[in-house]
Amino acid sequence: MSTEVKLEDIVSLAKRRGFIYQGSDVYGGLSGTWDYGPLGVALKRNIMNLWWQTFVENRDDMYGVDAAILMNQKVWQASGHTKTFTDPMVECGNCSNKFRADKIDISKCPSCGKENTFRPPVDFNLMFNTQIGASWGSIETPDGQHWAGELTAVENKTGEEKAKVPITEGDSYNGTMMFEKTGRVYLRPETAQGIFTNYKNVLDSFYPDLPFGIAQQGKAFRNEISPRDFVFRSREFEQMEIEYFVHKDNWQEEFKKWEEDIEKFLEALGLPENSYEAVDVPAEDRAHYSEKTLDYEFKFPHGKDELLGLAYRTDFDLKNIDENSGKSMEYRVKGTNETFIPHVIEPSFGVERALMAVLTSAYRTDELNGEQRIYLALPEHLAPVKYAVSPLLKNKPELVEKAREVYQMLKKKYGAVMWDDNGNIGKRYRRQDEIGTPHCVVIDFETLENNTVTVRDRDTTEQKRIVLEEI
Ligand code: ATP
Repeated sequence: MSTEVKLEDIVSLAKRRGFIYQGSDVYGGLSGTWDYGPLGVALKRNIMNLWWQTFVENRDDMYGVDAAILMNQKVWQASGHTKTFTDPMVECGNCSNKFRADKIDISKCPSCGKENTFRPPVDFNLMFNTQIGASWGSIETPDGQHWAGELTAVENKTGEEKAKVPITEGDSYNGTMMFEKTGRVYLRPETAQGIFTNYKNVLDSFYPDLPFGIAQQGKAFRNEISPRDFVFRSREFEQMEIEYFVHKDNWQEEFKKWEEDIEKFLEALGLPENSYEAVDVPAEDRAHYSEKTLDYEFKFPHGKDELLGLAYRTDFDLKNIDENSGKSMEYRVKGTNETFIPHVIEPSFGVERALMAVLTSAYRTDELNGEQRIYLALPEHLAPVKYAVSPLLKNKPELVEKAREVYQMLKKKYGAVMWDDNGNIGKRYRRQDEIGTPHCVVIDFETLENNTVTVRDRDTTEQKRIVLEEI
């Protein structure tokens, strides 16, 4: 039975059963950060592995990379992120809470409820920046701003370098000061740039035919104005991105193929066809580099929202790198003198949003023996635990011994197998249902006689006796 899921249901199950906890929970949390528990990390890895197998291992036109998170700041200048990677921010004049102007009705503050209190929107850059190398603490400038990080040069009012002064904690300076910013680095706000900057390396090492793609999975960071809706909008999250390099004349044809591949992948995640829609993003809402973007919007518990994006990024990024790095990003067609800068199609997935869509699609309730049952109908290849093994009674050593043997056997075969002898069988089933374990194996006295076990199916709750070797 399908169920209309509320966000609280998912959040509560995720915490109760060890999928996802608030980041830094023990100290009161840190907004926009989340920690994955034992089952959450397993589910997340299963999603990421499925993506990697589908888009990298099972294809012969794809190359994987794992670039550093910290990159030369020129990357973000050339890509336009330092100038344009912004969201419009509004602040309520009454309660001082800040919001993304394009996500709320600005006639009324969603926090304090007062009307017409918002100041005009300002562009807020979402990149976290920090300093690389040794740091001597922070000092306050006369305009009240705090500067932190390595301070190697102090300039006087005319901009002339005055001295190289190490600033130590507690030092205070008066007067107008400017600090050398050469050590600035950003926590990457997307994994894509780590792909573009390796395009030439991959080209030189493998000399692939066009079209080909480079794929990367990894952390991305955005200083979201208001992180919300559980892991949906986090400040630290993971992306799975591909830059697919094509000849500019073929981009439409290749774009179409990506639409088909994305649909197949969403099916493998267990998302029903009617749970999402590809929305053509109008020009004024597209990112600065894109000439066509499809946002795949999924019916999340908080409403329809972006799950992933498919964008035609033209030759924007490679051309910028070509111009700013002084290194040619041209592709030479084998056996000819034809050279050009390839165009790019980018399918960009967020792991947290995929995980939320998977949990939303899998969440079910029904009635069992007059009681409500909650279960996750996860596709077997995503389930954190494939089999749970229990002795019928945990105070019968002969059953426990046999069950341990079965547990070891299945663990060798399937890896993700859980030993569960807590509480009575009914409670164990309920617990395993909630974490989406497809099969529960119970060892009873009959097992000792004929080597058969009971295997219970999560979705139908049907129990079958099966010869052990046939599992
Ligand atoms: P939104 O409009 O929701 O802020 P976006 O259009 O800025 O998202 P992209 O820049 O296209 O997002 O990023 C690609 C993918 O990365 C998104 O489709 C999403 O799955 C994921 N993503 C982006 N920002 C976040 C975030 N703050 N938390 C979790 N996932 C995110």
